[in-house]
Amino acid sequence: MSESSEAVDQAGQAPCDHCGIFTIPGPLGVQSAWRDITYQPVRNNIWTASEGIYRTIYVEGRSGVIAFDTFSTPGGARAYQGAIQRCFPRKPVHTLVYSHEHLDHTGYASDLAPDADILAHDLCNRVIEARQSDGQLPATEVWTDERREFSIDGVNFELLYPGPTHGDGNLAAYFPASKVLFMVDTVIPGVGYTFFPDWHLAPYVGVMRRLLGLDWDLFVPGHFWMIDRQGFIDSLDFYDRMADAAQQAIIDGLDSDDYDAVTRYVAEKLAPAYQHLFRFDEYFAMNLIRYMQHYLTGGWGFEGNLAAGTTPFSG
Ligand SMILES: [Zn+2]
Repeated sequence: MSESSEAVDQAGQAPCDHCGIFTIPGPLGVQSAWRDITYQPVRNNIWTASEGIYRTIYVEGRSGVIAFDTFSTPGGARAYQGAIQRCFPRKPVHTLVYSHEHLDHTGYASDLAPDADILAHDLCNRVIEARQSDGQLPATEVWTDERREFSIDGVNFELLYPGPTHGDGNLAAYFPASKVLFMVDTVIPGVGYTFFPDWHLAPYVGVMRRLLGLDWDLFVPGHFWMIDRQGFIDSLDFYDRMADAAQQAIIDGLDSDDYDAVTRYVAEKLAPAYQHLFRFDEYFAMNLIRYMQHYLTGGWGFEGNLAAGTTPFSG
């Protein structure tokens, strides 16, 4: 028995796990647990992987693989590496691209590909360097403008920072030859994601619509499944309608701090128009509370109130 496998047996987790920003002593069983990853081709050399909730992409180059994000835990990162290697057993992950700085998408490069080059937007990397989370490696290359072309190992793509959407430095990856757009924690199938954690609601929709200027017809989100261009448009329209619904709810006297009252209001007033949407029952009331808080508090921080540019990208 090797030294490393003894460590697995005794501690119940692999010895190389990283702790994120947890401060209690390990082992952190849930963080370390293996995640079952499914994967499938998207178009051309682009593949997508998911563990059911989270989704990302990886791209086959001539000699290696460009992987986007790391999944949400050390165990997820190792399983993601395993999925990639089942596809391309002779091609190492030589490049990582961070979508944004949240640990649940980019927290565990140390467990996925510790020696890879890492691309991130400067705004994203500033948070990562300040956070110093165990396992989240800083970028080896940052970019600062809102659009840059990359050609790495025969893979051509663009990274775009359209403005504040969610988290910091959240980018879109555009593959013009495949007409594929990838972006995390923004547009997803169905209603909005939970309580819109770290969404910058004032600029969000206008900034996201900039991406409709690009020539793509398949969108890969960071959660759930792929959607088409109309699904992307419908999702952004949902946010506009949610903004109106939240203002009306306040006018109607709904208390955003009373979850039972909010769920009753949703069932009575809003279910007829929205209950057909994916995850309506789980997320819609949370969506409404978050939007109500936006109007009651004025939004949060600089990014939540920024008057960002809305000029569509071209090309
Ligand atoms: Zn996020």
